[in-house]
Amino acid sequence: MITPIGTPLAANATKVMLLGSGELGKEVAIALMRLGVEVIAVDRYQNAPAQQVAHRAYTIDMTDGAAIRALVVQERPDLVVPEIEAIATDELLAIEAEKLATVIPTARATRLTMNREGIRRLAAEELGLPTSPYRFADSLAEVTQALEQIGYPAVIKPVMSSSGHGQSVLRGPDDVAGAWEYACSGGRVATTRVIVEGFVPFDYEITQLTVRALGPGGQVATYFCEPVGHRQVDGDYVESWQPQPMTAAAKAEAHRLAAAVTGALGGRGIFGVELFVKGDQVLFSEVSPRPHDTGMVTMATQRLSEFDLHARAILGLPVDVALSRPGASAVVYGRFEGGPVAYDGVAQALALPGIDLRLFGKPAAALPHRRLGVALATADTVDEARRRAGEAAGLVEARPA
Ligand code: AMP
Repeated sequence: MITPIGTPLAANATKVMLLGSGELGKEVAIALMRLGVEVIAVDRYQNAPAQQVAHRAYTIDMTDGAAIRALVVQERPDLVVPEIEAIATDELLAIEAEKLATVIPTARATRLTMNREGIRRLAAEELGLPTSPYRFADSLAEVTQALEQIGYPAVIKPVMSSSGHGQSVLRGPDDVAGAWEYACSGGRVATTRVIVEGFVPFDYEITQLTVRALGPGGQVATYFCEPVGHRQVDGDYVESWQPQPMTAAAKAEAHRLAAAVTGALGGRGIFGVELFVKGDQVLFSEVSPRPHDTGMVTMATQRLSEFDLHARAILGLPVDVALSRPGASAVVYGRFEGGPVAYDGVAQALALPGIDLRLFGKPAAALPHRRLGVALATADTVDEARRRAGEAAGLVEARPA
């Protein structure tokens, strides 16, 4: 536990270093600052969203272990909080082992979840959780072999990728060569390793936000937010809502899977456990050991957003995961290259009932699309909230300035 909380910019400051300073990190930084924490925001480009609201900002290559170590030694943060996956996680293991800083939730969790293989093998093979059928492959020939066992339709994804980069659905043998090419070009790092998964014809998919925080007895307890439903296009989230209606059996199974995987990863903080649901059956897909993009809806729906919950959990403070009201989020995209960006239609969007907006302040847009903001809506029903959020996001136009 981090007690007592110190004074920012003083010798006793409680210091948190964010590795990754995107829109999720920006909200984590704000939540931490509200609790009197000194925040250091690190990213690979200047003026990243969280850097704009932090006490200090650094721009480094976060896949460079020596650069991360140098910064940790210089700043001596109490906590190092990774916000993205593409980090030198071996260095985080060393930093944790040397007790230079506490890594959130644990260095091992960041290493296992940065690669689809690590987390899938943990969930399916060690914990025995239900997942889609899968094989790993390193060449076109191995992909073809994998597909003989898995069949069609199937999904292929680089093991080091997120947000749909390099991911495609294969309907038949004609799709294989193109999908392999795309996967090799779409990963975060230069590797050709991919996961081939059976396509799951789910009824709906959820993010089970799960918090590991200190409970009343001073031990780590597991708390579950109401399920967040979401819709993805090409592997990237376009809208989310909370609560997603579920049968009691599916909800219990979602909690069982989420408790198992977050328990195995350990540490404290919020996790976004991604699950596919068909009837009462629930399959584990993947997990982020940090706030989840689809969970931005909680800024409208919960008294404590996923960012507030993460801040409290990592500081060893009590949490409350209660839902206040139904709501939805819809993404605002920039579909051009470069910056700065100008936003039209903001007043019109905010004039709609029950609407709030977050513009992330990213210095530039990118092709084919970059997430630049999110519209948040609350309403009496999830359906109405989705309609309003979608309408509001559609009114905001990001264009070159
Ligand atoms: P991922 O990057 O693995 O989270 O995948 C992004 C999105 O692609 C998921 O949220 C699903 O909508 C879809 N997807 C990924 N894997 C599968 C699968 N095996 N079957 C069906 N849809 C999938």
